[in-house]
Amino acid sequence: GSTIGILGGGQLGRMLSVAAARLGLRTHVFDPGADAPAGHVAHKVTTAGYDDLAALDAFAESVDVVTYEFENIPTEALDRIESIRPIRPGREALRVSQDRATEKAFLEELGLKVAPWAEVHDPDSLAAALESVGTPAILKTRRFGYDGKGQARLSAPDAAGSAWEAVSGAPSVLEGFVDFRCEISVIAARGLDGAVSCFDPGENVHEGGILRTTTVPASVPGSVATDAVLLAARILNALDYVGVMGVELFVTDAGLVVNEIAPRVHNSGHWTQNGCTVDQFEQHIRAVAGWPLGDGQRHADVVMENLIGDDIDAVPRIAGESDAALHLYGKGDARPGRKMGHVNRVRR
Ligand code: ATP
Ligand code: MG
Ligand code: MG
Repeated sequence: GSTIGILGGGQLGRMLSVAAARLGLRTHVFDPGADAPAGHVAHKVTTAGYDDLAALDAFAESVDVVTYEFENIPTEALDRIESIRPIRPGREALRVSQDRATEKAFLEELGLKVAPWAEVHDPDSLAAALESVGTPAILKTRRFGYDGKGQARLSAPDAAGSAWEAVSGAPSVLEGFVDFRCEISVIAARGLDGAVSCFDPGENVHEGGILRTTTVPASVPGSVATDAVLLAARILNALDYVGVMGVELFVTDAGLVVNEIAPRVHNSGHWTQNGCTVDQFEQHIRAVAGWPLGDGQRHADVVMENLIGDDIDAVPRIAGESDAALHLYGKGDARPGRKMGHVNRVRR
């Protein structure tokens, strides 16, 4: 059988490993941290840094294809791996999504709507950006942000100084605040043969920049759901993408606005584990292993709730609820803001 290499051993790598095992495939996880959640379930784990070229070489040589659970992998590590084995999804998807400015320019090039935005690299360009974008606005670092980290909200231009400090003067983008009706996301998959399959859009609620719940079906008209799926397919086709992608969207009176894309399985797609015959993790493994995509049709209504930090204390109670499917990540330390698991509440 073949072996899938996975860069990153967090919960996404863990759930990818479980899906691969179900298909009779092995996984080899590469992660710098000891005791990575994916390490508990993978066939093999390498604990090494992304600057350890010998470890990267050995990792790549031991697998048939390499995928990843996060987009911020250093370029040199990717170059090294790619000289040995294919990386799926491919480099273009990583290049575009590693940098918010590159990503927004790419989406605009495709004719898609994004929030009004401007590049910021110093206090002067921030002042100019506030002129053109206006307030309220959000300053976001171009790279490395997730779960709302590396972001500062500005209700008025006089907050420029503290916002610039909050992002530590890192290269950033200023985004106009989008007055959305709701947030939805499309989890889309594209196979090696170019076939595209999208899961039903889910409706997302964030708290403090972190995803709290995803609900399917989303409370949007069918035409909006169709638009969302078609828009996602355009993004995947433009990138000649192979694998699963998360496309985060704002639903506004003027149509859909793309917030951001993630070239990987996505937290807002966890509902598929209990709502579909083939979930996002299996779909991703199928795509990167060159299998046909599976049946992603939704067969139930689902509310996915993240268990963040202390929420994990509710597990004994949730375990006694009917229709609740628990997915726990095996993380020891329930720090505030840390994703410890999720529960899918299913209604057929
Ligand atoms: P992740 O990658 O974990 O989804 P992130 O750190 O990349 O998060 P964003 O998706 O940029 O963060 O923002 C997090 C949330 O903040 C969004 O889902 C949305 O609720 C809100 N938000 C971000 N940008 C805007 C915007 N321009 N207008 C309105 N709300 C926004
Ligand atoms: Mg993001
Ligand atoms: Mg986001």
